[in-house]
Amino acid sequence: MLYSNCTHCNSTKIQEGVIRAANAPLRMYPEESFTRNAPLNAHLRKSSAISSYYCQECGCILGLFLTEPKNLD
Ligand SMILES: [Zn+2]
Repeated sequence: MLYSNCTHCNSTKIQEGVIRAANAPLRMYPEESFTRNAPLNAHLRKSSAISSYYCQECGCILGLFLTEPKNLD
């Protein structure tokens, strides 16, 4: 757990969540995956799901983090 208290209201009701667009969770890709000379499937090999923490009390989204950061090496 990266956060024990909400930075906005100091509540300890911190939950982990996943932000989704339509039916797909958002994913992070290294920018190099989309350069002109990158292999066509480069973005498929290097990516990580993005998860986040939010405050159950005030709704503040505290931060985003990669669940598999080593995938982007
Ligand atoms: Zn809060």
